[in-house]
This record gives sequence, C-alpha cells and structure tokens, in this order.
Amino acid sequence: MPMRILLVEDETKTASFVRKALQTEGFAVDVCGNGQEALAVATATPYDGIVLDIMLPGRDGLSVLRQLRERKNNTPVLLLSARGELNERVEGLDAGAEDYLPKPFELVELVARVRALTRRGSESKSTVLRVADLTLDTVSHEAWRGGRRIELTIREYRLLEFLMRSAGRICGRMAILEKVWEYHFDPGTNLVDVYIKRLRQKIDADSELKLLHTVRGIGYVLKEAP
Ligand code: CA
Repeated sequence: MPMRILLVEDETKTASFVRKALQTEGFAVDVCGNGQEALAVATATPYDGIVLDIMLPGRDGLSVLRQLRERKNNTPVLLLSARGELNERVEGLDAGAEDYLPKPFELVELVARVRALTRRGSESKSTVLRVADLTLDTVSHEAWRGGRRIELTIREYRLLEFLMRSAGRICGRMAILEKVWEYHFDPGTNLVDVYIKRLRQKIDADSELKLLHTVRGIGYVLKEAP
C-alpha cells in the first residue's frame, strides 16, 4: 500500500508540480484547493501525511490544522508558507504541525520532508513507552499513571514522549526546546519550566512515587529513583 498524502494548495501550478514529484516517489496524492473542503476530506479519510499551505481560500491552513487537532486527528502535517516569517512558523508548530517549509522551496527538499513526516508516523506505530506505572501509547496518544487516565494537550504529549524516550537521562532545556518545540534558538522565556510544571501536576501530583525530577541548573529527568 502506498503512503497516502493530502496536498492542500490553491495555486494550481504549485499543486501540480508537488503532486507529480510526490507521485514519482511512490506516494498516492489527493489534491484539495480549499481550506474548508480540506478539513472535511482530512476528517473523512485517513492520510499518512498532510501538506498544508497556510494561505488558502475558505479557511486558512492554520485554522484547518487547529480544527484537526481539536478533533483529535493526529495526522502529521507539513505547513507551507509564502512568507518564512518566524512568528508564523512558531504559530504553526504550536498549533500542532510537525514541520514547516517556507516558499519558495526546492521540490527535492519538500519530498525529503514528506518522507520524514510519514516515516515519523509509521515509526511510532504500536509503541507503548513505560516508566514505572506511567505508560504512554504513541499511537493513540493515551497516557496512564497506574489505572488513572491522564489527559494531555498535543504539546504536553510531545514533551512527555521525549522525556519517556530519554528516560533515565537528563534532558536539558535547549534539547527540550529543540525536540518538543523545534526551536533552534532560546526564546528567552520560561516556556519549558511552565510546561514541566503542568506535566508534573498531571503525572506526579496524585502519586507517592515521583517520576519527573529537576536537575537544578541543567534540566529535567524522568526516572523511578529520585
Ligand atoms: Ca496558497
């Protein structure tokens, strides 16, 4: 079965180039030129990845993305934007996009990003991460502490997944910013600490055994022993 991609792009010339490039690489591609329709199609059909332009008629790409995530649709999304502005990139990643590509882009670059996007999706299949009685299902995104279900936002999920994949190792703030927010710069805020605090409240507050530990001045570590 080929990987199935939904390409949401209203510029027909770009859509046609991208579709051909992806098809050449063995992807099955559906094209949609309207944000509102894209939301309906992506909700009705399971895709392995979505390439989503931001500037669209009907409903803009960021709004499509937010709606998908609100509906618990976790299909990996690569955002395309005419302007490579930093705040748009940050906004997109915060809304739950896996990746971002500013226009104009090289087709080889786009194909490589889509390949990485779909690989990430399939790699995460049937994996349950476990630390003590804390479990995280990387397909359903469900987290449990003992018999208690933990509700997580997309960003909290990503943070917990990173910490669990690195269990026993110290995760520095910069490493967390890069892996969880894809920031390759220090935004100079206490973003990480705020999210750690929220996550700690969710996973540790009701349990005697604390799993999320602060390593002062360095970062955080998820492990059984203090
Ligand atoms: Ca457009």
